Amino acid sequence: MMRPLHAKEIDHAVKECILCGRCLEVCPLVSATGREELSPKAKHTLARVLRQEPERLEGKHVAELAGLCLACGRCEKACPQGLCTPEAVADLRHAHPDLKQWLWKQWIEKGGALWPALAWLSRRLPEGRAEPSPRYDAFKTMGSGPGVTPFLRVSNFSDAGLGREAVLFPGCTARRLFPAWTDRAAELLAGLGFSLPKKQPDWACCGSTLGHAGCTEAQHEARQANLDAWRKAGRPLIVTFCATCRCGLRGYPDADLGWEPGEALRWNQSVTSLAHFMADVTIESTGEPPAAVYYHKPCHGSGLAGAGADEALLARALGDRYAGTTGDVCCGMGGIMQLGAPQLSRQVADTLWTRLNPSAGSLVLTGCSGCVLQLKATAPEGVAVGHWLEAFSPQNG
Ligand code: SF4
Ligand code: SF4
Repeated sequence: MMRPLHAKEIDHAVKECILCGRCLEVCPLVSATGREELSPKAKHTLARVLRQEPERLEGKHVAELAGLCLACGRCEKACPQGLCTPEAVADLRHAHPDLKQWLWKQWIEKGGALWPALAWLSRRLPEGRAEPSPRYDAFKTMGSGPGVTPFLRVSNFSDAGLGREAVLFPGCTARRLFPAWTDRAAELLAGLGFSLPKKQPDWACCGSTLGHAGCTEAQHEARQANLDAWRKAGRPLIVTFCATCRCGLRGYPDADLGWEPGEALRWNQSVTSLAHFMADVTIESTGEPPAAVYYHKPCHGSGLAGAGADEALLARALGDRYAGTTGDVCCGMGGIMQLGAPQLSRQVADTLWTRLNPSAGSLVLTGCSGCVLQLKATAPEGVAVGHWLEAFSPQNG
């Protein structure tokens, strides 16, 4: 049974889709499948029908379509009405409790127990096993995959962090699967002169994926917990190395979290990417880099100040070995869509790999935890994938 939309949902639906079709050109689902019914335009039409004549729609049809969005945000940037499809879709999900959102919520909230188990499992799955289930890809992702051998090191730090206090926000994936990213990031921050606490704050999920899944109460709780943790730490700089986390954290001031005067602005000014502080460091080679190193641009946060700092860092460090970006193409990670329509997510990833056509021995680096997981799970044989932090050797190693 569908419930009526609540006030906030109606409020953000005041702007209407004018059916101009501009979003069709940028939506990775449409370009991978050619199916216009998966477009942002179709989803806004659905949302409008749900608002005006809910009796016309059956819950299961709404649930199906609402599950099919990667939350990449590309359509919002192209839309002359500024319509945010991920938000509209999240509202649809929120309005329909029969969606698979509960599963994604479990995945995020109980991941502490679940993810290491999947990583363990993946390392024990026989190589080359033909497994028809798309879930197998997800298991494979959790393991190591072809690793990245570090080949860079900072030889001379700038004093970008001198006299400044900072905390790291690693995000769920780094905390649970790739703790070495956090170690490397902490070393780099220390090298830059930042003052770091002995123990990092007890962060919750950034809430981004929970919000896209329509789990708005859980998202609110996570945001509140993070705000409290930041206050307790003395409101320092919050340094991230995941584009999705950065985007999620920057969205906090839009939420009613009981901000003190001026605090929301200070929060937003505090959330900064690690690469932003590395613009003036000197980098040396510690080994031979792969013949071609690409950078994958995450969809999230691409419009925020400081986006692209990690790509600039790599391009500067790699010189001729930098092969450019993987193109302006989404990897297809898509949060909840991994659970509802993993084949579609795979289809979007295949579009990226077909266009890039990397040779064996290439390396693709990126700055988003979700993109790392998706690219690792779908990369062609012999192509390594990692977070850009993996290209850096330990500073005192
Ligand atoms: S957020 Fe991305 S996948 Fe979802 S409708 Fe918009 S462009 Fe398509
Ligand atoms: S770009 Fe915006 S207004 Fe135009 S069809 Fe897409 S959602 Fe509707």
